[in-house]
Amino acid sequence: MARFINLYSGSSGNCTYIRTPDVRLLFDAGRSALFLKRSLESVGERIEDINAIFITHEHTDHTSALKVILKKNPLPVYAAKETAGRISGIMANGACGKLICYDETFEMRFGDTVVTAFRLSHDSDSCVGYRIDFVEDGVARSFGLMTDTGYVTDDARKALTGCEAVMVESNHDVEMLRYGPYPEILKERILSNRGHLSNWDCSVFCRELADTGTRCFMLAHLSEENNFPSIARTQSEGMLEGTGATVCVACPDTPTVLI
Ligand SMILES: [Zn+2]
Ligand SMILES: [Zn+2]
Repeated sequence: MARFINLYSGSSGNCTYIRTPDVRLLFDAGRSALFLKRSLESVGERIEDINAIFITHEHTDHTSALKVILKKNPLPVYAAKETAGRISGIMANGACGKLICYDETFEMRFGDTVVTAFRLSHDSDSCVGYRIDFVEDGVARSFGLMTDTGYVTDDARKALTGCEAVMVESNHDVEMLRYGPYPEILKERILSNRGHLSNWDCSVFCRELADTGTRCFMLAHLSEENNFPSIARTQSEGMLEGTGATVCVACPDTPTVLI
């Protein structure tokens, strides 16, 4: 059976596990290799069975476990070329994995599973989200994930429309951020078009996706300083009222199962 599990999420580290009948994939590898390995084991999966890692962008909350993981596990790591340029040092330093660079809008096939990247807008050299299409028991299915973006790009809208289950960033409550303890320059960065997605923007996008068929949402990459899971969830649930879609919130430390 297909699985879509966020292992942990937020500024201290991000990693998502997706299994289809063809392949077992990780999206991002933040935090530490040990934490990642234990998180996978806690949902009955093993790092040795992973087929590839896809990276969204070079920030350490998405890449800090890579170096140690790749020392023991010869995994292919897929990243857009600008991101690959930033993380190639990790790969050169005794890692046994292979770095595969691609264009930001690339498609990778594993049997009947197709992973498609799409462009996001973030203060990194490049940042992408992913859509995963596959067939299970003769039925076409699709998952999507999008975090670390200042706004919903046209590419994201196009790629995620029609996905059955989607993980979306719901980073901050705008009021909490504006009146919170962060320095002004950081507030401006987060609120900018190359920052992070607010609860409000996330909820509007969730509604749009629900109206085109998405049934399950996971809210991810919540700020520990400028958000509360209950606020993010209430915002999206309110917007999704009447659609029948479900919402859960990814935990910073423990796995959250979407599918
Ligand atoms: Zn980032
Ligand atoms: Zn991040």
